[in-house]
Amino acid sequence: MYNQFDYRLLLGKRKHDTMIEPFDDEYYMKRALREAEQAFAEGEIPVGAVVVCQNKIISRGHNLTETLNDVTAHAEMQVITAAANLLGGKYLTGCTLYITLEPCTMCAGALGWSQISRIVYGAADEKRGFLKFAPLALHPKTEIRGGILQNECALLMKRFFEQRR
Ligand code: ZN
Repeated sequence: MYNQFDYRLLLGKRKHDTMIEPFDDEYYMKRALREAEQAFAEGEIPVGAVVVCQNKIISRGHNLTETLNDVTAHAEMQVITAAANLLGGKYLTGCTLYITLEPCTMCAGALGWSQISRIVYGAADEKRGFLKFAPLALHPKTEIRGGILQNECALLMKRFFEQRR
């Protein structure tokens, strides 16, 4: 057991640890946003993603539907495949996906098959998002968190579609 003095020291140490720890959801969403910006620059709908395992980015990618002429080439599909290749197994248990836009029903299905442990998304997608159409598509143990840097993520999409008009 700690006496009062030691306990305060311990709290102080913890506080310091969290101050120097940059690896939070916002940090990784910024990395996903960087991928989305890359998509934007390539004329692709600007959605970006990274997969994180034990605080390391193990795959990153963005939407490639125009480049590949493939309607299934969403950012999630790219990073799921790349992460599984890197890990050498098909399941992404213990991994977190950071994605700038709420996944669609197709990607939610794929993420369900991957058994990924956690999904963090930026902007909601009212039109094609899975939460409205297929809320049970994910693996039952998958945790989901939305709205991280949602304004930045949504603004990139808005700018893209305004430019195309
Ligand atoms: Zn999708």
